[in-house]
Amino acid sequence: MTTATLFTRIMNKEIPAEILYEDDLCIVINDIAPQAPVHMLVIPRQPIPRLADACQADRELLGHLMWVVGEVARLYDIEDAFRLVVNNGADAGQTVFHLHLHILANKGSDETFSEATL
Ligand code: AMP
Repeated sequence: MTTATLFTRIMNKEIPAEILYEDDLCIVINDIAPQAPVHMLVIPRQPIPRLADACQADRELLGHLMWVVGEVARLYDIEDAFRLVVNNGADAGQTVFHLHLHILANKGSDETFSEATL
């Protein structure tokens, strides 16, 4: 038996999170430790560990996740300025091994994005 990932446990409502959007393929939550005034995570229900582990059969899901990024950007009024980050692998800063896309935006702040990495 494989252990459920942190994000699967959030989807199963075992761990609380602020859910901003959900559909049959993914959820979007607020990051618990935001690195910008807006910091959301787009997470597929399917627990693909890393982007590099996605296979050909996952192409439609990956496209859907990108569409959801645009959709929540419009919903939360950040469509004109946001960054999208995927950390792939521990050496790249990945800490939760369940694919997720970070959406970062400086809405409501005068700061501009620096070159700082997530
Ligand atoms: P990464 O380092 O790319 O794997 O990103 C994992 C992200 O998950 C980090 O930005 C964490 O702050 C975030 N995170 C960890 N636990 C939670 C949680 N319980 N709810 C929401 N976000 C979380």
